[in-house]
Amino acid sequence: MIATVDCLNGSYPDIMEPILLSSTNEQSPPVDLRTALLKGQAPDRGLYLPQCFPQLTPDELAGFAGKSYPEIAFDILRRYTSGILDDATLFDLCRDAYNFDVPLEPVYDRVQVMRLDRGPTASFKDFAARMMARWLGRFVREAGQTLTILTATSGDTGSAVASAFHGVDGIRVLVLFPRAEVSDRQRKQMTTLRGNIRTIAMDGKFDDCQGLAKRAFADPALAHMALSSANSINIGRLLPQSVYYFYAASRLAQPGEPIVFSVPSGNFGDMMGAIIASRMGLPIKRLVVPVNGNDEFPNFLATGDYHKIEPSRNCPSNAMNVGHPSNLARLISLYGGRMDEVGEIHRAPDMAAMQRDLFSTSVSDEATRAAIRQAWADHKLLLEPHGAVGWRGFQDYLECAPLAGSPAVVLETAHPAKFPEEIERTLGFSPQVPPVLSALDPLSEDFDSMGLDYSAFASYLQANYGR
Ligand SMILES: *Cc1c(COP(=O)(O)O)cnc(C)c1O
Repeated sequence: MIATVDCLNGSYPDIMEPILLSSTNEQSPPVDLRTALLKGQAPDRGLYLPQCFPQLTPDELAGFAGKSYPEIAFDILRRYTSGILDDATLFDLCRDAYNFDVPLEPVYDRVQVMRLDRGPTASFKDFAARMMARWLGRFVREAGQTLTILTATSGDTGSAVASAFHGVDGIRVLVLFPRAEVSDRQRKQMTTLRGNIRTIAMDGKFDDCQGLAKRAFADPALAHMALSSANSINIGRLLPQSVYYFYAASRLAQPGEPIVFSVPSGNFGDMMGAIIASRMGLPIKRLVVPVNGNDEFPNFLATGDYHKIEPSRNCPSNAMNVGHPSNLARLISLYGGRMDEVGEIHRAPDMAAMQRDLFSTSVSDEATRAAIRQAWADHKLLLEPHGAVGWRGFQDYLECAPLAGSPAVVLETAHPAKFPEEIERTLGFSPQVPPVLSALDPLSEDFDSMGLDYSAFASYLQANYGR
């Protein structure tokens, strides 16, 4: 089991020992953060998790009220990068990565919506992708290596990763996307960058793209290429996602006051950021984890029985169409259990503790659209389908557990202008388009096209990345 409490007893921030990370499958030796970032997945196919979490003192938490977002990011992340990255460098990276707003929009009483959509690709994935790109860029440069990142996308991951790694020396990115399943704006976010970013439109579905990528990672004939992945199995995606929970609490809660978060979830990387923040000492009253029609997690939380959904169900919140969240293995590990990479549970977690900390609910497509209408009618709150799942799930929570004056934050994970058709159909008007998206409209695109034949794909990789 991975020890998570008391191992540092609060003294950690002064000692600054490098953090070690262990695999959720418990068969691989512990590694430092640099190795975990470069490898992504552990050799035993488990996911890396810090062996213990640095503890923040109440005074340190209270001090965040007077700090900017990049300053808080630095203060959190340095506790993980100590020993592998000097503080001055990390500080510069944080300032450079987080050069956009993180608005908290008051809705009623002490309930606010945190908009994580002001980054360059207008989704919350910018927060993690931009820090990970800067970390990996440095490590690759220091090692004199080159790295090729191969990523399959249903829309938001590909654009955030492509934007974050664009222009990073020593790293090349290849994004596979399903031709018919991404919106024009999502596609243009990837296909107009050029330079070290290449994209392929695949004649298939997202699952087909992911299947080809996975096969390439496991192909001995391609082993010389140093292929790496940037999806949320990489711990580098999770640590930066803990920061905005500290930030929101510092703006909304009194020092030490517990707060409720509602996090619309698919692969559970975003909600794991909240779990990490809470293990580091942030008081969270309840973590609400709404999902769309892919309801494997709320069923598991209620019963302890886990059944993944294959194939995943198509819902309007398309970035959350996940039938087996890859980060579930991490969550279960933090509650003392063990789940392997195919979703089999080998040791049960402490379900009672999980039920105490988390609340989960499945939001139907109909309820998602009704939530978009209700939020607009009642509060002039403009939500897109992902945020609407978060909002509706939060209402479900309130029916079981009144807030009683506690502060609460619902996360909005994408900009409504990324889903103009859905908003138009539901509300009868088009959302205003922010400059990061409208700037794409006149740009010309450049991408390759391919069928689903693996040997053709492997030849493409050899030809373009085989050196
Ligand atoms: C990826 C994504 C999610 C789901 O986040 P997970 O970390 O996979 O749970 C939610 N909303 C949007 C807009 C996304 O792009």
